[in-house]
Amino acid sequence: MNAPPKQLEANKPRLSVTCIRCGAPLSIPGEVRFVTCTHCRSTLVVQWSEGAAHTKVLDAIDQRTERIEREVAELRIREQIDQLDHQWAIQYPPRATRDNNGRPIRLTAGSANKAAFMIGVFGVFFAVLAATAEIYVFAVVIAVAFVFLAMATRNSVLRGIAKFEQAEVRYKEARQKLQEELGQLTLRQ
Ligand SMILES: [Zn+2]
Repeated sequence: MNAPPKQLEANKPRLSVTCIRCGAPLSIPGEVRFVTCTHCRSTLVVQWSEGAAHTKVLDAIDQRTERIEREVAELRIREQIDQLDHQWAIQYPPRATRDNNGRPIRLTAGSANKAAFMIGVFGVFFAVLAATAEIYVFAVVIAVAFVFLAMATRNSVLRGIAKFEQAEVRYKEARQKLQEELGQLTLRQ
């Protein structure tokens, strides 16, 4: 490693500051941010205000920096939670999944069966209508078609329920994780 030329070294402006902890006068290179007091060994940070250099004990600065970092981290997590809620609301609009009293409507396997049953009722109705008109082939076709339609509808509703429940689990897990991170930040305060 090359040592800086002596002349350059000498030309560097030096600052006279006072150790904030013990009051010892210190002569430091002008550009340094941190300095160790030659008297009390405190680690000091050099700060400028009103055109003069002052020293501060680093611990206090550290604490303040940590607090700010924590606040920023907290803000970031809250933002992520908001974003998560927002995305969830877009994906599953609350209005579409709530009844008139504001209670959330949850589709169940029962809902799927009910839908299939309603389609079955229509199927029977049309099949009987065709039978009474003595169009028997048509009656059979209608009966078969409605059985398939009922089954397809039931499966579709069940798939929708499964998809919703998986998404809900993922949403709740992600939210829970962020809440825990937030809790840990608050604990450290
Ligand atoms: Zn000191």
